[in-house]
Amino acid sequence: QQQPKVEANILVLGAENVGKSALTVRFLTRRFIGEYVGTESIYTHNVTVDGRETSFSIWDSVCPQNPNAQNCITEDQLRWADGFILVYSICDRDSFNVARQQLQRIRQMKKRHGPVPVIIVGNKRDLQHHREVPSQEGRMLALSSDCGFFEISAAETYHGSLVVFHQLLEAVRENRSSG
Ligand code: GDP
Ligand code: MG
Repeated sequence: QQQPKVEANILVLGAENVGKSALTVRFLTRRFIGEYVGTESIYTHNVTVDGRETSFSIWDSVCPQNPNAQNCITEDQLRWADGFILVYSICDRDSFNVARQQLQRIRQMKKRHGPVPVIIVGNKRDLQHHREVPSQEGRMLALSSDCGFFEISAAETYHGSLVVFHQLLEAVRENRSSG
């Protein structure tokens, strides 16, 4: 007997220029193209994961330069998402602060609507010589709020983006079966 299709709405968040689109497009096409349009997009991606037919809807968001980054996440986005990918750049301290603020906003929502899986991603790992955020800080932020954590380079590998989306999918499925 065939199992029902798994559906997951994934919201990709983070400051401007951290590689949200690069990460998303890597997962969708396996490629890194270097330049991405700055507009918001929702993509549908049908694949088989662990033998299960899976339909990802991926919302590649846009966060304008904003001193209060929490405000660039809308109620609609929060309601829509089954899971979040929160991206910062390891060579941009400000983007880490934005991620922290956005995590706060997701947490507030969790208080009202129950737990939602989050994966924190430190991107641009290839730019070690420009690093401003030690791995340990990213890991601690994730630990303190029960999130997954990865450092990746969307520019260098497909594997990192694959692991991020698959891990989040697994968390979304667990979250459903326990709720
Ligand atoms: P977004 O604004 O968060 O969607 O960021 P983009 O995906 O548009 O990427 C912003 C810039 O960073 C682009 O010039 C990308 O080519 C570059 N970029 C994205 N990911 C990486 C990475 O892993 N390493 C490096 N070196 N550059 C990256
Ligand atoms: Mg983008």
